[in-house]
Amino acid sequence: MRRGKPCRKDTLSFRQVLPRTLVGVLVENDAPLAPLTTLRLGGPARRLVTAHTDDEVIAAVREADAAGEPLLVLGGGSNLVIGDAGFPGTVLRIATEGFVLDGTALEVAAGETWSEVVHRTVLDHDLAGIEFLAGIPGSAGATPVQNVGAYGQEVAQSITEVVAYDRAADEVVTLSNAECAFSYRHSRFKAEPDRYVVLRVRFRLEDNGGLSTPIRYAETARQLGVEQGERVAVAAAWNTVLLLRAGKGMVLDPADHDTWSAGSFFTNPVLTAAQYESFRTRPGTENAPAYPAPEGCTKTSAAWLIDRAGFGKGYGSGPATLSTKHTLALTNRGSATAEDLLVLAREIRDGVREAFGVELVNEPVMVGVAL
Ligand SMILES: Cc1cc2nc3c(=O)[nH]c(=O)nc-3n(C[C@H](O)[C@H](O)[C@H](O)COP(=O)(O)OP(=O)(O)OC[C@H]3O[C@@H](n4cnc5c(N)ncnc54)[C@H](O)[C@@H]3O)c2cc1C
Repeated sequence: MRRGKPCRKDTLSFRQVLPRTLVGVLVENDAPLAPLTTLRLGGPARRLVTAHTDDEVIAAVREADAAGEPLLVLGGGSNLVIGDAGFPGTVLRIATEGFVLDGTALEVAAGETWSEVVHRTVLDHDLAGIEFLAGIPGSAGATPVQNVGAYGQEVAQSITEVVAYDRAADEVVTLSNAECAFSYRHSRFKAEPDRYVVLRVRFRLEDNGGLSTPIRYAETARQLGVEQGERVAVAAAWNTVLLLRAGKGMVLDPADHDTWSAGSFFTNPVLTAAQYESFRTRPGTENAPAYPAPEGCTKTSAAWLIDRAGFGKGYGSGPATLSTKHTLALTNRGSATAEDLLVLAREIRDGVREAFGVELVNEPVMVGVAL
């Protein structure tokens, strides 16, 4: 892990240039958080600070830490379930900007909108590496947190370094890809949630003469009319992913309540050999999806389990229901509270456990609530 400067252009040590107080940032008290999340539910923040530069981010974190104040870092709010009581501390909204492309080396500020980053690398620069991650909501800075992935690609494959403020050491550090400890929807940042605030993310993209990375996902290959493993024009890959995602309500659309979600609410369960054996003794599991996972484990599909346990698309009659387009997305139909959503989530988790003996785990981060 390298320590020191926040980005390559800085020449002074970070400690010398950091302000100690909040200057120029936007501070609001008792601020509603629901509109800042894609689920559009949850209570207010005692204090909401919006930071536009790395210095402002770090100063805000330091001030909260010095005061012993609880801190929640907020990007696009697309992977959060905030409890109805809200957050009794400082919510730090990261609104930093920066997109620097040097050949195939890309550095983006944490506050950049991820889908726009992908759009620019593909359509403006014909580069591959993150094209299958099109349309994923949220900020660039959150992508390493849960190792964002879709359609056979994940950011762990292209991230070279993450520049972060280390709250424990009170300094800016640069973590290599290996130091980020990426795994399926997980990373060092998720394992130590109160330690790092991501400031910048660096990627190594691919210049394949306008071609994508090899297509790994059967559904994308089918839609493009090619075989898995083939490459297509990078813009065609990007466009196809957006079409597929839109059909599942996985591209944000304020007018469509099926997208008032946090994306997939449960991760795909990864079963040990013994757990998988026991799972396969249950009736109806002969055709359950099964993919090899590290350490002899097997990954199965949360969507398949939920559907077969009796919770089909659109399940539910209250203000929170399953999406009518995707079994894995729990949605707010307009007036849901966090509790409404959690009641539904618990019903589904318990139903899957009863039917298949598998414990579903939530993917979004819970704030002040638990499943
Ligand atoms: C419709 C929809 C589709 C989705 N599809 C996918 C998908 O295909 N694949 C996938 O992986 N995810 C998907 N998601 C989930 C979500 O978009 C991603 O997890 C995204 O990276 C979250 O980014 P965010 O900025 O909104 O994070 P937030 O929701 O604001 O925060 C999520 C977590 O990250 C932390 N965090 C945010 N920014 C920082 C930072 N700069 N430093 C440190 N911690 C930070 C927060 O404290 C919180 O713990 C989807 C969500 C929705 C609503």
